[in-house]
Amino acid sequence: MDLDQLWKLTLGEIEIQLSRANFATWLKSSRLVDRKDGGTFVVSLPNNFAREWVENKYQKNILGIIRNFDGSARKIEFVVTGNFQAEAPAAKKISAPDLSKFDRIELEFKVDPETNLNPRYSMKSFVVGPSNELAYAGATAIVNEIGLKYNPFFIYGGVGLGKTHLIQAVGNEIRSRYQNKVRPRYVSSEKFISDVVWGIRNKRMEDTKKKYRDVDVLIIDDIQFIGGKEKTEEEFFHTFNSLYEANKQIIISSDRPPQSIPTLEERLRSRFEGGLIVDIGYPEYEMRVAIIRGRLQEASRQLSDEVVDLIARRVKKNIRELEGVLNKILFYQEKKQADITGKVAEEIIDKSIQNAARRITDTQVLKAVAEFFNISLGDLVSHNRRKEVVEPRQIAMYLLRDMLEMSYPGVGEKMGRDHTTAIHSYEKINQEINRNSALSQKIMLIRETIYKS
Ligand code: ADP
Ligand code: MG
Repeated sequence: MDLDQLWKLTLGEIEIQLSRANFATWLKSSRLVDRKDGGTFVVSLPNNFAREWVENKYQKNILGIIRNFDGSARKIEFVVTGNFQAEAPAAKKISAPDLSKFDRIELEFKVDPETNLNPRYSMKSFVVGPSNELAYAGATAIVNEIGLKYNPFFIYGGVGLGKTHLIQAVGNEIRSRYQNKVRPRYVSSEKFISDVVWGIRNKRMEDTKKKYRDVDVLIIDDIQFIGGKEKTEEEFFHTFNSLYEANKQIIISSDRPPQSIPTLEERLRSRFEGGLIVDIGYPEYEMRVAIIRGRLQEASRQLSDEVVDLIARRVKKNIRELEGVLNKILFYQEKKQADITGKVAEEIIDKSIQNAARRITDTQVLKAVAEFFNISLGDLVSHNRRKEVVEPRQIAMYLLRDMLEMSYPGVGEKMGRDHTTAIHSYEKINQEINRNSALSQKIMLIRETIYKS
């Protein structure tokens, strides 16, 4: 088994557990670089700061996950990338064929230092369906008429639904279509924030300003993180205006629409609302199948129709999770050198879904719902029939069933009701969610806060 693959699977698991800001800051450029005798795995991190932090916070977590894949794992050691590369003897331990694999994977994910874009994300590999066709159409329009038509272009949607993929794909497409005539730059909000902080601290704000204003297309990911950070918002506002007035294109992603970023300054919000705002929803069954088939083709691997259908039916709300489950199944297939039967696939899926669900508790769900609607937990489970509490209560029952896969009697018990009320509530919300976009929006936001808590 290949270390890179094992690490990819491990990161896939961790990514679901951590907040995205944390994941990006600490683990994105990590690698699994060695496996020593006695089950010690060596993880490299970009600097000492990251090493210390990951070592303190995530060592146990990482060991647990790796051990799931490889029972012989006993210990995790951390090294700093620079040091690891300098250690020539350690590098030699890797045999020749392995090393070439290593290189290839490295190349595949090489981020362009000038644009900060990852070539892995392309428009071609982006599967389009009803849940994202508007976003895709907007993206295509922008490639054709940069800066003129839809400015800014604002995409929002839940975790793992393809926002980063699509906005990076626009950048890559622009790059390949217009070559050096148009300069895109991609930046995560975390990076933007840290550049502003750096500029202030080192009295080099001019450099930061130049970096972001001297582009033709600015792509900024997960803008919700800058909400409430005054200096950063201020700087972003000026950057925005300066680009906007020069007809430069601005592309923004967020996990929620502008009006739902509570800490965002009004003037920024109204700027965002002046452009094109589109959302990306949950992928339909056909899309999920197409995404799985696309990944199989890329990896030159095969699975039976039955198994593809099974994965697509079971993992519905997060494409990253869908890919994670697929990777696990492929990994198992390779390790056992055996055909994957429906039964085996089902077991693997059950296990990964349970892992995801186990991290969320029923209390977390109820708290998140109560907080969202600004009512008390007592109100939520009371028999009060006021409208302000009836809907939250039904949503709570819906989420308990949907996110935790609780039984109806279980849901009823938690809410102080019988199971028929639980069934009725679940079905009511489940139907309504398709017709009522305000409702589905609320539920998406509540889900997000639960995932993040
Ligand atoms: P987000 O930024 O919304 O959290 P990402 O863009 O990181 O989500 O997507 C998560 C994973 O799912 C990525 O590996 C991405 O390539 C894949 N993905 C998302 N949407 C699609 C799609 N429509 N077609 C193909 N792959 C997709
Ligand atoms: Mg993203």
